[in-house]
Amino acid sequence: MVQLQKAKILYQLYQLKALGYEYIKETKARENASEHSSDLPQSIDKMNDMAQNCYLCPLAKTRKNIVFGEGNINADLMFIGEGPGASEDEVGKPFTGRSGQMLTKIIENVLGLKREDVYITNIVKCHPPNNRVPNIDEVEACRAYLLQQIKTVNPKIIVALGSTSYHHLTKEYDTKISQVRGEVYDFGDAKLVPTFHPSYVLRNPTSKKEVYHDILRVKGML
Ligand code: URA
Repeated sequence: MVQLQKAKILYQLYQLKALGYEYIKETKARENASEHSSDLPQSIDKMNDMAQNCYLCPLAKTRKNIVFGEGNINADLMFIGEGPGASEDEVGKPFTGRSGQMLTKIIENVLGLKREDVYITNIVKCHPPNNRVPNIDEVEACRAYLLQQIKTVNPKIIVALGSTSYHHLTKEYDTKISQVRGEVYDFGDAKLVPTFHPSYVLRNPTSKKEVYHDILRVKGML
């Protein structure tokens, strides 16, 4: 399985090279958080600089900005969303649009923290056109950055915002977010708390109480 994945990644790199992309040789994707080791820099700033020149997947062709992440690089709490939307693509920062406003309210009003106290990122760092869900190849191309971000920030708690985030963090692609929210899971050295994505809450206001419950639990664990 690992060999097959490596062969697939290698094939993808050759394809991208044939398409005229350059790739970052230092990037090595690994299976999961506990096995993760890569040659990426251990500083968030350096990793961010490196990602600015990333052409590992086709999202590089349409992005305006890389949205690497922001916040406290030593945070106990990390939020991981799906991928940058159009407004995040414009400004290069995660969760700046309507769902970002909701996330900020959750951080301030439920946790009693400031946005700068936590670290916020996404599964993929480039905006998928038309806000579509990132596909598996795009997620895999970005995985090394995400895992190294988690390793470097080393949070106590990771909140997976929505099903895409949960699916790709855990590789449990068939599990519904509604089945796992309300629970706490081990994720490497951290605890993983899945909850609904803020954009889902905006579309389904009755889900607010569940998110409130999940985030209050996070508060108790900090
Ligand atoms: N939705 C996400 O998942 N991430 C963002 O940064 C913005 C909207």
